[in-house]
Amino acid sequence: ANGEQHTITRPPPTPSPLRFSKFFQPNLRILVTGGAGFIGSHLVDKLMENEKNEVIVVDNYFTGSKDNLKKWIGHPRFELIRHDVTEKLLVEVDQIYHLACPASPIFYKYNPVKTIKTNVIGTLNMLGLAKRVGARILLTSTSEVYGDPLEHPQKEEYWGNVNPIGVRSCYDEGKRVAETLMFDYHRQHGIEIRIARIFNTYGPRMNIDDGRVVSNFIAQAIRGEPLTVQSPGTQTRSFCYVSDMVDGLIRLMEGEHTGPINIGNPGEFTMMELAEAVKELIDPAVPVKIVENTPDDPRQRKPNITKAKELLGWEPKITLREGLPLMEDDFRQRLGVSKKHIN
Ligand code: NAD
Ligand code: UDP
Ligand code: UDP
Repeated sequence: ANGEQHTITRPPPTPSPLRFSKFFQPNLRILVTGGAGFIGSHLVDKLMENEKNEVIVVDNYFTGSKDNLKKWIGHPRFELIRHDVTEKLLVEVDQIYHLACPASPIFYKYNPVKTIKTNVIGTLNMLGLAKRVGARILLTSTSEVYGDPLEHPQKEEYWGNVNPIGVRSCYDEGKRVAETLMFDYHRQHGIEIRIARIFNTYGPRMNIDDGRVVSNFIAQAIRGEPLTVQSPGTQTRSFCYVSDMVDGLIRLMEGEHTGPINIGNPGEFTMMELAEAVKELIDPAVPVKIVENTPDDPRQRKPNITKAKELLGWEPKITLREGLPLMEDDFRQRLGVSKKHIN
């Protein structure tokens, strides 16, 4: 009787002959959280190239900007929503690329409580959304989950060496919980998940004053300022060009493997070597200045990308020496400083 009481009588839906025909391929509706940011906006550009994709971006513009998406605003397959992922979101989508989260240490440390809410509550909400609509969801996790790694290069099986109470913890522990939530929703609710562990990525459209090392050095060299190498300068990172990153993320989303899978460029450089490469490219006359470092700075970082190669058929194509000039062009344009002609 209870069942009868709650029965709502509606006329049955009229099936659209077009929608149910086997020849009709509906558009794929893709949500990109954090799509106004650096990697997100490049991902949107790539997704929009496919005419079968409709892209919805949600972003709170904390570190991102509408400017990064200006060429798509008004496009019939594109929608931009000002929204904070720590709040509930109701949209109907087939895939979710969940990137929303500040990535630069100065920004994620600026309001650490907000960073951890974004990572934990934001990811929970996107998983709740994925569960409700049956969407596949990809999380952009980070090499920071390995902390100050005791294993080198880092492979996905390594559990990491992370300080749970340090100033970086809002970000690295936040992403670790986000990964846990992804796997718990997968195991408990059968959600289709993908986890990318992104290693340092650079390229055009990075915030000029983002505080990350590649953007700092390029902006400093163009402005003729000293390059600030944080001590000791022997710490290493491995830098991936953004188009390679986007290609890896799409392959992971489209493939059959949950991950986590490292996506990064295994070319490893000390910060001193990076400074020298930027000097050589932009202005050999700028000095290098050793400045104080921040706590818990990982001493070394380099991805083992065997999984990405074997499972996704992916590997980066653009070396640091090829990528830096592309970034220089973009930074010169935005800073309004053209290249000096050296005779
Ligand atoms: P970014 O700061 O340029 O982009 C992040 C975007 O998320 C911004 O547009 C920002 O406004 C938005 N955002 C932040 N908090 C939000 C919130 N609560 N609600 C809605 N939007 C919010 O950074 P990015 O370099 O493009 O990084 C994108 C993703 O990749 C992040 O998840 C980051 O953790 C991850 N990642 C990046 C790197 C890297 O080297 N760039 C390395 C590892 C992981
Ligand atoms: N959620 C959302 N959009 C949806 C569905 C859920 O933002 O379309 C949020 C919801 O607010 C909740 C979270 O996702 O806080 C987790 O949802 P779930 O259904 O898994 O858990 P519950 O609502 O039962 O706590
Ligand atoms: N770094 C530096 N000079 C700068 C900014 C950063 O030497 O102006 C160093 C920093 O100490 C770290 C590395 O560059 O060892 C990468 O820092 P970044 O903030 O770009 O990214 P992280 O990998 O730490 O998230």
